[in-house]
Amino acid sequence: VGWWDHVGVAPKDPINGVTEAFLVDCSPNKINLGVGAYRDDEGKPVVLQCVREAEAKIAGSEFLESISSAVSSKFVEESVKLVYGKDSDVVNEGRFSGIQALSGTGACRLFAEFQRRFYPKSRIYFPHPTWSNHHNIWRDAQIPESTFHYYHPNSKGLNFAALMSDNAPDGSFFLLHPCAHNPTGVDPTEEQWREISCQFKAKNHFPFFDMAYQGLASGDLDSDAQAIIFLEDGHLIGCAQSFAKNMGLYGHRVGCLSVLCNDAKQAVAIKSQLQHIARAMYGGPPIHGALLVSTILSDLDKKALWVKEVKTMASRIQKMRGSLRACLEELGSFVNWEHITNQVGLFCFSGLTADQVDRLATEFHIYMTRDGRMSMAGVTTGNVSYLANSIHEVTV
Ligand code: PLP
Repeated sequence: VGWWDHVGVAPKDPINGVTEAFLVDCSPNKINLGVGAYRDDEGKPVVLQCVREAEAKIAGSEFLESISSAVSSKFVEESVKLVYGKDSDVVNEGRFSGIQALSGTGACRLFAEFQRRFYPKSRIYFPHPTWSNHHNIWRDAQIPESTFHYYHPNSKGLNFAALMSDNAPDGSFFLLHPCAHNPTGVDPTEEQWREISCQFKAKNHFPFFDMAYQGLASGDLDSDAQAIIFLEDGHLIGCAQSFAKNMGLYGHRVGCLSVLCNDAKQAVAIKSQLQHIARAMYGGPPIHGALLVSTILSDLDKKALWVKEVKTMASRIQKMRGSLRACLEELGSFVNWEHITNQVGLFCFSGLTADQVDRLATEFHIYMTRDGRMSMAGVTTGNVSYLANSIHEVTV
């Protein structure tokens, strides 16, 4: 018997599996609606102009030795301002612990580990449904999960009444998507966020925000952080931020984890614990991506350019939502497609069944996850009518 004879193949990731199937398809009409990263109207990945400028500015400025803590603190300072607001008391009074993390995934993983260490008997409540990797992340941190009501399949919108009537025990950890919910594209309104915040306060729940798409829902970075009105009710919140999508830095794995604290002294303790966990897991984070982000966020012109580019990305997606819905309606579809334009962010939770998704792949070379989630970033002026025709064919 050999050392690894008992090791079988791990389950396929539902999202990566879609891309694999797409890549081996030779049809010129093929469309990949699986991947949750931004693509331009030619279907190509984009390097933002602000990133190109930041690259030029930092070229040669890095030392490959340990200046990473200086880079990290600047990066963290700029990142937290983006979610909590540059003039927020939390930031001014240093009532947060922030640490650079390996993109949004790494920020979630760090928090999950932190949760296990300091609340070993706790659970995590996820919206149903949620990003598939959330289940893996908290499972690997040995935190059991539960779900709370979120999506309503009939309205293809928020099931707010059910969400508010959930009966998790007081003092539970909840994961919330502050904008551009993955996979549904369904976000609470500002008023609904206020009610959720109020309820969480009454029940002493801990809100952990997974902010993977700031700016890509409305096109405006501040509006997309509206869920952070939780601060007004005095919550201590946690937040995972990713720059993979809104700055197109996917491969750099650049993200931030912040946890709000009662005072600056507590912030020091919590930060030291987060660093302690990270040190044993992967040492420290890479510098380059963080340097790009802090260079952009701390320079007025570059930041303004980024704000504009985020808006352009969000507008293209919004435009494609409008086109897809219009094409389907022109075809005389009997299905109500309003949700394509009601939902926001990168994803449209189409309502297509697993069978319909399979037919789109085998007969029309169109790929998406079997829950019917379409990445609207894969829709272009050039393929939208073919996509609409194909969806119409499988839904008549
Ligand atoms: N959280 C959510 C809800 C996501 O959709 C994603 C990406 O798909 C992530 C976190 C993690 O993204 P990354 O680790 O690439 O920053």
